[in-house]
Amino acid sequence: MTPLEAEIRRIIAADGPLPVGRFMTLCLAHPLHGYYVTRDPLGAAGDFVTAPEVSQMFGELVGLWAAAVWRQMGSPRPIRLVELGPGRGTMMSDALRAVRILPELCSALSVDLVETSPVLRRRQEQTLAGVGVPIAWHGDFADVGDGPLIVVANEFIDALPVDQLVRAADGWHARMIGLGADGELAFALDPDAIPRPDAIVPPQLRNAPIGSVYEWRSDRLIGGVAERVVRHGGAALVIDYGHLEPAVGETLQAIRGHRHVAVLADPGEVDLTAHVDFAALARSAARAAARLHGPIRQGDLLRRLGIEARAARLKAAATRDQAIAVDAALARLAGSGPAEMGGLFKAIAFAPPRLGPLPGFDN
Ligand code: SAH
Repeated sequence: MTPLEAEIRRIIAADGPLPVGRFMTLCLAHPLHGYYVTRDPLGAAGDFVTAPEVSQMFGELVGLWAAAVWRQMGSPRPIRLVELGPGRGTMMSDALRAVRILPELCSALSVDLVETSPVLRRRQEQTLAGVGVPIAWHGDFADVGDGPLIVVANEFIDALPVDQLVRAADGWHARMIGLGADGELAFALDPDAIPRPDAIVPPQLRNAPIGSVYEWRSDRLIGGVAERVVRHGGAALVIDYGHLEPAVGETLQAIRGHRHVAVLADPGEVDLTAHVDFAALARSAARAAARLHGPIRQGDLLRRLGIEARAARLKAAATRDQAIAVDAALARLAGSGPAEMGGLFKAIAFAPPRLGPLPGFDN
């Protein structure tokens, strides 16, 4: 039994079953045993690989996007570049290299990284040592200082806890984690239906068939980001895997060593994620009076931002093996096959309405 499972069993013994979201929070962020708190999960030797780890092209294009947005904003000085959940700092490092072509931006720029994991923060400090712009770390987006800002986040929202509701004859019930008849951790339903399902479940899903699962996340963070860009000026770009339309269905999954494993096995030792509901992100941003751009497929965003030309330039200066690797990375990032990220991942941006259409988006 993992140390965190022992702790979860103590919590269940004292307070009864816990909601899925609280379980996920403990598994990912428990101050001693949380998955992200205790390790760097990224890369071939870890549990999963993200787009910036596939190729430098991804972070470079995000950097060029930020530079274009900054110009569109009227080149405000100073400007914050904020990243949520920066992992190893790879995307920020590649983005900052790309924005060097605009010295007037570099001299106005400071970087804010929002990161809860001490292990990954150290990794970011190493990756970003010597980039030549001031960097501040925060545990919470709310601690980022005032002023115009451009926010980027890749594979961040999927790591935020989800709660699950299950439709029963008498309404929607919170899904909980308690102990089964065999004494193992097991899913259970809260016996009482939640009082105000309309506040959570979108109208088109309210009469979903009995047994349907609806997953939802708190919109505190994204609502806060949208409010901030509307108030101080700027834009936010969120890229992640997920669905465009509101949907029922269970997507909570556990990954270890690039493989799916049981969600309740080995708490704290496996990565837990759930698909991002882009319709819910859009609702959060719209409530803050932000204008929405997209969501569109990652492949479309990267092509419009020029990934093909970037790949061609890299290949022109590459050995044969490097050129093959560039082509493979291009396919992985922008292709729409089942093992590729271009169609599965989506991008959404939001900004104050006055900013107009954003680069890479068709609106
Ligand atoms: N964006 C990176 C890493 C993705 S993994 C990439 O694309 O490679 C998710 C990242 O979010 C990790 O850095 C993790 O430590 C961080 N994270 C998870 N939950 C967080 C939270 N609540 N607040 C801030 N960072 C968080």
